[in-house]
Amino acid sequence: MTTNQTMREQHSRDESYHEPSLPDVVVFPKTTAEVSKVVAFANEHQIPVVPFGLGTSLEGHIIPYHGGISLDMSLMNRVLEIRERDFLVKVEPGITRTQLNKELKKYGLFFSVDPGADATLGGMAATNASGTTSVKYGIMRDQVRDLEVVLASGEVIHTGGLSAKSSSGYHLNGLIVGSEGTLGVITELTLKVYGIPESIMAARATFPDIQAAVDAVTGILSSGISIARIELVDDRSIQQVNTYNQLNYVEKPTLFLEFHGNEAGLAQDVEFTKEIVSDFGCNDIQFELDNKARAELWEVRHNLAYAFIHGFAGKKLMVTDVSVPLTELAGAIIDARKAIETEKMDGAIVGHVGDGNYHALLMIDMKNKEEVEKAKRVNEHIVNYALARGGTCTGEHGVGVGKAMYQPLEHGAAYTVMQSIKQTLDPHHILNPGKIFMKKDQ
Ligand SMILES: Cc1cc2nc3c(=O)[nH]c(=O)nc-3n(C[C@H](O)[C@H](O)[C@H](O)COP(=O)(O)OP(=O)(O)OC[C@H]3O[C@@H](n4cnc5c(N)ncnc54)[C@H](O)[C@@H]3O)c2cc1C
Repeated sequence: MTTNQTMREQHSRDESYHEPSLPDVVVFPKTTAEVSKVVAFANEHQIPVVPFGLGTSLEGHIIPYHGGISLDMSLMNRVLEIRERDFLVKVEPGITRTQLNKELKKYGLFFSVDPGADATLGGMAATNASGTTSVKYGIMRDQVRDLEVVLASGEVIHTGGLSAKSSSGYHLNGLIVGSEGTLGVITELTLKVYGIPESIMAARATFPDIQAAVDAVTGILSSGISIARIELVDDRSIQQVNTYNQLNYVEKPTLFLEFHGNEAGLAQDVEFTKEIVSDFGCNDIQFELDNKARAELWEVRHNLAYAFIHGFAGKKLMVTDVSVPLTELAGAIIDARKAIETEKMDGAIVGHVGDGNYHALLMIDMKNKEEVEKAKRVNEHIVNYALARGGTCTGEHGVGVGKAMYQPLEHGAAYTVMQSIKQTLDPHHILNPGKIFMKKDQ
């Protein structure tokens, strides 16, 4: 453990615009037993405990607004077991997704969920993260077979098992995934993994406008093509990408695509995709089969947020994160663009369009109150638009403090059920207090 000022500062902020706040102490447990002892002690003395993965979350999740302990899980980062023929891996929570994939590659396997940042598996489970591949493989909640969790009392439980199917008991995996460190500390995860596909092909396709690009997505999804990634990047984002990466991509709404399958199947998929996208006005589609070119294409997509963060030194990133039914997506994005323009802001839009999930990226000067207010109004407008159409205020980033105010509206009476669960599992509210629920509701 340490009370070193620099360490405390590193654990006082995430990668977003939310105000930092220092923990009193940072603790680095190495075993489940140590986590259990720390949490039981904190419970007895009513000291807040905020689990910390890598701090890449975007809604103030790990900021210890009530002080106390920042519980940094980075020393618990081992792969415990690879059950190759069960397509399962057991890991400690501090391992990152790229560290895990490096190990799995030796077995011809990979873990599918890929949030833009190189997050920890514990953090990804706690936020129910997803990313570019969920259109084919599903989100974090779909990958979790079992979790070992330390409850506020210090008791250690398992939430699932090794079997692919189970109808036994309540679905505690589903409850803990997405609980953002407010119900327990994840100390071990058993996760589903996949065989690396025989053949992978990536593509980049440009469209005259957003509506055409989204319509093409619907066309591709309904055709049964084996699409593993389908990402929308708007013209403003492409502009930034061109500057940041010194590229000269056409500055038009663009789909980044990836197909997984075998060589013969992919050849057919490519031809079929060309036909579909041309029906929607795409006259520029480029395919990349070569590993290096493909990796570069996805690096550009994954570094998009950083292209903005580094391009606007001194400003902070606000990123919206709604998800809507696919039929509402084009309307939602066009409306978001209008909201950004109405407030005379500079902003870009990117989306995991296969899932109806998109982000508006707004760079804000936290010292400029008017700019902060404008950005908050855009965020609120986007959330209300999504909620009115059966969507959610957060598709993948989670609630933290930034989306807490929308929880009662989104969940209605179920919000009270969530409060009772929190009260039962963490009666002294020591686990990540002030997150998910509004202060007055705790
Ligand atoms: C550039 C960029 C792009 C991003 N793109 C995506 C994206 O495409 N999709 C996406 O889903 N997210 C994305 N994110 C957000 C972020 O990467 C994810 O939310 C990620 O899952 C957070 O993981 P982490 O290890 O950094 O967790 P942290 O930020 O450290 O923690 C996140 C939450 O999990 C809790 N937590 C951490 N470890 C544990 C544990 N062991 N037990 C219990 N609770 C724990 C924390 O208390 C906190 O509430 C992006 C972030 C950035 C900066």
